[in-house]
Amino acid sequence: MSRKWQNNRMARYGKILATTVLLAIAAVFTACQQQGGNSYLRTPRAVRFQPVSTPLVKRSLSRLAREVNIKVRIMPSNARQRRGSRRLNPRFITIHSTANHSPSSTAMQHSRALCRGAFTNRSWHFTVDQFMCVQNLPLRETGWHAGTPAGNHNSIGIEMCECENRGHNHFRTWDRAAKLTAVLMKRYGINLRRVVPHYHWTRKNCPAPLLTNGKPGPKWAWFHSRVDYYYRCINEGKSNR
Ligand SMILES: [Zn+2]
Repeated sequence: MSRKWQNNRMARYGKILATTVLLAIAAVFTACQQQGGNSYLRTPRAVRFQPVSTPLVKRSLSRLAREVNIKVRIMPSNARQRRGSRRLNPRFITIHSTANHSPSSTAMQHSRALCRGAFTNRSWHFTVDQFMCVQNLPLRETGWHAGTPAGNHNSIGIEMCECENRGHNHFRTWDRAAKLTAVLMKRYGINLRRVVPHYHWTRKNCPAPLLTNGKPGPKWAWFHSRVDYYYRCINEGKSNR
């Protein structure tokens, strides 16, 4: 067997191997796209969607609110979305997800964009990422996020960021949103059944990462169980469901 022939054969194997790897990557990527186009689906092992089994760590409402790390950046009072807003009747909490995977689409960046008027017909109360929560509207005022008058007039809107930058951790974002939701439930006496996905109002696939085939399923039940866990932490171990 000549060295030249061997080299040719190695080069051929190399090409076949490279093509196979590329096809495999493309297949995985396509599968992820088909399942919803989000890379969090590539890291499901990071989150086990099971009810919380850890013992309660009782704390006060204000202590849990501090853990949420709320910054206040209210939209300008003359912003288009705030004109004609009504008094909010907070009977529901509506959970959304931004579906924006750009690395810079953090809670603060979304809030800045909101304050600059980048989202012409939309507004919501809180934007959450893995590090902080930014309040964008006063809680006495309606936002434009639910897609129906009933949803807008009766619910507090929470947007969860899906930014994908170095070290991003969607679990921490969802956990922070669960803590915020528990704080708001306690403050306004809202029942867990009234913590709803955007889907509840318009059948939209939102918050997509916590829905299953576009509908509330095990992941949404998991989110509810986390909210309930934090609620019990600040309510003497008792649920409100
Ligand atoms: Zn939504």
